[in-house]
Formats: sequence, structure tokens, C-alpha cells
Amino acid sequence: MARYHGPVCRLCRREGMKLFLKGERCHTEKCAIEKRNFVPGQHGKDRKSKIQGYGLQLREKQKARRYYGVLEGYFRNLFEKASGMKGVTGDNMLSMLESRLDNVVLRAGFATSRAQARQLVRHGHISVNGRRTNIPSFQAKPGDTLEVVEKSRKVTSIIASRDATAHYPSPNWLDVDRENFKARVTQAPKREDLVQIQLNEQLIVELYSK
Ligand code: SF4
Repeated sequence: MARYHGPVCRLCRREGMKLFLKGERCHTEKCAIEKRNFVPGQHGKDRKSKIQGYGLQLREKQKARRYYGVLEGYFRNLFEKASGMKGVTGDNMLSMLESRLDNVVLRAGFATSRAQARQLVRHGHISVNGRRTNIPSFQAKPGDTLEVVEKSRKVTSIIASRDATAHYPSPNWLDVDRENFKARVTQAPKREDLVQIQLNEQLIVELYSK
């Protein structure tokens, strides 16, 4: 399945909740969810049907996939990996999604949205343990140190993002040194660290287990 290039606010409206895909705008009254929180489309306002069963599982999966900006194939592979690991499959999945390099860059406050974080990684602005890494899906492990590479610390958009996110709290599993554009992963992210959106990962596990 190809990557979605349409208006991202539609995705939030489809899921009926903020997925924080547009950076700072998501925290303002310009957010589409604040203004028109109904399903997009001509008859969106009139749609009253209550989804259940498979529909509910599908929506939960789409919500998680859209929030993390990943494709269907990747998501399914992630489920396969998570189900082969020790522990609860849903927790393992979320921990791996949170450990993606693009997500860590976002959580560290070096970008205001996941799309921007992914671009920083892709364009070679980020290094992990001193080595430039341009793979957004790279899994950061406890002990890994990521930083904005020396040359990129003067890029206006990166400085602006760092300053714009200064008031956001850093997650428990990340030790962030904003001044020096550095962050160290102190532990693997846990289920309770996912606080920005409500997600029922058990429904996703049920969907893929059929
Ligand atoms: Fe758009 Fe962000 Fe609001 Fe979603 S949360 S509708 S991406 S502004």
C-alpha cells in the first residue's frame, strides 16, 4: 500500500480524535478536530452508525498506523515480531513503535511532528552513537545516544522546533539535553509511556490473530 499524501487532518477526523500529525498547529484552535469533529465526506455529519467487532478492530489498527505514520506491511511484520517475543504482544508492538528513530527524534523535541522527524532522519541530520543514521524505522535501544549532527545544529528549522517544543515534558525513558541536541535512551518505552492518544492495542492483536 502506498504512503498517504492527502490532507492529514482528514485522517484525524476519520478516527474522531487528534493524531497530532501537524506539529504545533495540533495544539491550537486551528486544529480541524476542534472545528469540525465529524467523519469527512459529503454525508459525514449525518453518519451515526455505531461500529462494532471487526470494524472496531480495523479502526484501532488504522489509528495506530496513522499516528506512527507506518505502512500496512510494516505494521503486520511488527505484529509478527512482537508476537514472537516474550511478554504481552500489544505492549511489545507499542514499545517497538515508540523506539523507532523518527519517534525518538520527535519525543526528544528536535522536531514538532513525526513527518518532520522522519525528514530529519532521512536527510542525514541525526546520528546514533556517533554514526549518521538515515533509517526512520531504526530501533533505538536502551543505552543508545542520538544527536543532531554538528553541522545541522545551526539549521533554523531544527532550532525553531527545539524551541517550540521546550515546554513539552520529555518521556521517562529518554534523557534529553536540549542545549546540545542530544538524547539518550535510558530504558525501553513501556505501555504507560504512550500518553498522547487513547489506544486499545488488544483490538489490533485480535485483528491480526484471525
Ligand atoms: Fe490536523 Fe493536528 Fe488537528 Fe489532527 S490534531 S486534525 S493533524 S491539526
